[in-house]
Amino acid sequence: MRVSREPVYVHRRRRLGAALLVAVVGTLAGFGSAEMASRVLGTDDPAVAALVSSPAGEATAASSTAEATPTPTPTPSPSADAASPVAPTPEPSPTATAAPAFDLTALSVDDPDSLWVVVNKRRPLDPLDYAPADLVDVSGVPGGATMREEAAAAMQGLYRAAEEADAAFSITTGYRDRGLQQYLYNGYVAESGQEAADRFSARPGYSEHQTGLAVDIRAGACELEPCFADTAAGRYVAEHAWEHGFIVRYPAGAEDVTGYIYEPWHLRYVGARLAAHMHDEGIATLEELFSLKAAPEYR
Ligand SMILES: [Zn+2]
Repeated sequence: MRVSREPVYVHRRRRLGAALLVAVVGTLAGFGSAEMASRVLGTDDPAVAALVSSPAGEATAASSTAEATPTPTPTPSPSADAASPVAPTPEPSPTATAAPAFDLTALSVDDPDSLWVVVNKRRPLDPLDYAPADLVDVSGVPGGATMREEAAAAMQGLYRAAEEADAAFSITTGYRDRGLQQYLYNGYVAESGQEAADRFSARPGYSEHQTGLAVDIRAGACELEPCFADTAAGRYVAEHAWEHGFIVRYPAGAEDVTGYIYEPWHLRYVGARLAAHMHDEGIATLEELFSLKAAPEYR
């Protein structure tokens, strides 16, 4: 669509520019007729001829008529072809015209430094001991934590908004390095057995907390428990976290996809544009969004 429209637009502008030039020069030189003007100026464009030989009012009408008359579509130049490898769609749908498709390839889902990195039981961090380079303290939020810079700023914004809505919370954990994850996971396995532990705790190198983009929050006594969903904070983040670039990463009923039980307290920063896109499209998990394999268990 855009490919074919631009040359026409440029073409029209060029024609009108030429016509104007001819009209001005023609007037100044006192050409007796359109034919003469055209011949002298080296153009045989009927619109130009009409412009030169007509009074102003008629010239406008002639110009409009000339534009309405089907003009030969300019042949796209080779450079235009090279610049746009995708062929223009003949009949673009109204939605395509209204909003260009969201580019799901804009950022990597593999690079651990990417805001869109997808980490799950099939997709460990690479390298396994990855550590972000831009960790900062999430100041101003009770509990405190470290997160990557952009995620920390967004968390501060989410907290302020929640507090204003009487839905304040505190942070349990943000970034966890591989060593701490190992320690926690080992503890859970000792306490509950490996099978149970794998449902709510990631093995080291497989945790979103190691990306510096994830955070667990709590409200009152509801810490890492399903009851968090029914607190004011739980309801607030479920409804508004996306406005600050966060998603509830492990939604209810998606254990077969994400590999984790419903964790209404675990928020993952993906950036405002992607979070809004997922919200608008009603897509709940990163696996579904990026058409990645479901990760119910370690392979
Ligand atoms: Zn978590």
